[in-house]
Amino acid sequence: MAAIASAPASFLQAMTAVKRAFNFSAGPGVLPDEVVHQCQQDLWSIDSTGIGIMEHSHRAKTFDKVLADAEANCRKIANVPSNYKILFVTGGATTQNEMVPKNLLAQGQGAAFLTTGYWAEKTWEECRAHFPSSYEAWDGRVTKHTYCPADNELKWQDKPGYVHYCSNNTIYGTQFRNSDGSFRYPSIPWSDVPVVCDMSSDIYSRPLDISKFGLIYAGAQKNVGIAGTTLVIIREDLLDLHKKLGKKLFTMETYATHAKGESRHNTPPAFPIYVSGLVFKWILSQGGLETMHKHNMDKAAIVYKAIDAGFYKGHARPDSRSAMNVLFRCPTPELDDKFIAEALKHGMDQLKGHRSTGGVRASIYNAMPKAGCEAIAQFMADFAKRNG
Ligand code: PMP
Repeated sequence: MAAIASAPASFLQAMTAVKRAFNFSAGPGVLPDEVVHQCQQDLWSIDSTGIGIMEHSHRAKTFDKVLADAEANCRKIANVPSNYKILFVTGGATTQNEMVPKNLLAQGQGAAFLTTGYWAEKTWEECRAHFPSSYEAWDGRVTKHTYCPADNELKWQDKPGYVHYCSNNTIYGTQFRNSDGSFRYPSIPWSDVPVVCDMSSDIYSRPLDISKFGLIYAGAQKNVGIAGTTLVIIREDLLDLHKKLGKKLFTMETYATHAKGESRHNTPPAFPIYVSGLVFKWILSQGGLETMHKHNMDKAAIVYKAIDAGFYKGHARPDSRSAMNVLFRCPTPELDDKFIAEALKHGMDQLKGHRSTGGVRASIYNAMPKAGCEAIAQFMADFAKRNG
């Protein structure tokens, strides 16, 4: 037993001796070092229980605390009002493409969509296939998803069951933002229509007013944890809306089930929820969303400055530039490949753009240190000099 119990110390030493790359992955993305170190310890034994976090029962006291802390800290970060529930569900953000319309739309009703990118397209297409009265108030395909529309560009039709948009478009590198990078809330003509937002790639990267939304969802694997759980913040009156709409849903597809069962109606993904809890604690320890925002704006400015120096071409229109995903191209696709290969040799990884856009994508989520942005900006300048 003693030999086994002492194994992790040497294992931890060996692990931390390995130099970590600057990880520019769009998701799963970089985690704060502090979080990864804590995971290493708690995998072996959490809270001196002698049992690792992955091995505890989801009904045991240890997990009760993990879940309660995660929920409380998630609420504290954004002052989530008391009439909103915080849920940790499974199936990724993609499953919300199904859950949202099933729960919020009556048969024959439609929703309105602002299609600003790849993921927003998928969300719209799924809903339209099942609720054909849905419509697009904005179709960003015509402008190659280079920006997020202004309010006066939105084409509203009938009053929809809800309005859906995506605050940050991971694949095109655009974000609904004001000039200072703060949250821009598209204005909706109906005050009683719930706004549903996919915040998968910018949740908790800047201050936001939860009360503007009926439902927010975010796959955890970019800014708030790892793949395996999806954060849903939902206004309480929407939990049971399907019943008021006269619909009967299966148990696991209703939000009410997950709210009533405290995100563990069935066996939940305990480890991903635990990691999200650590990330929430980390965000608070850094100073919360104001600090995150300032930090993210500083980092993004460093990389965009390198784009604006010439040689590179950014994808996003400057007023929609994402502070999370920075997309750019070299003068030729061959140079893009060369850039990515050489950057890897300098310790910068996961820079290849999505298969649908090509080019280079540097994802600089909350946990990306400023040093990572400085390193890529420096590399961009050197590469441009050598290849320009
Ligand atoms: N929405 C956005 C904005 C995303 O970036 C992603 C994943 N990259 C998704 C939805 C889909 O997320 P998941 O893989 O968790 O289903």
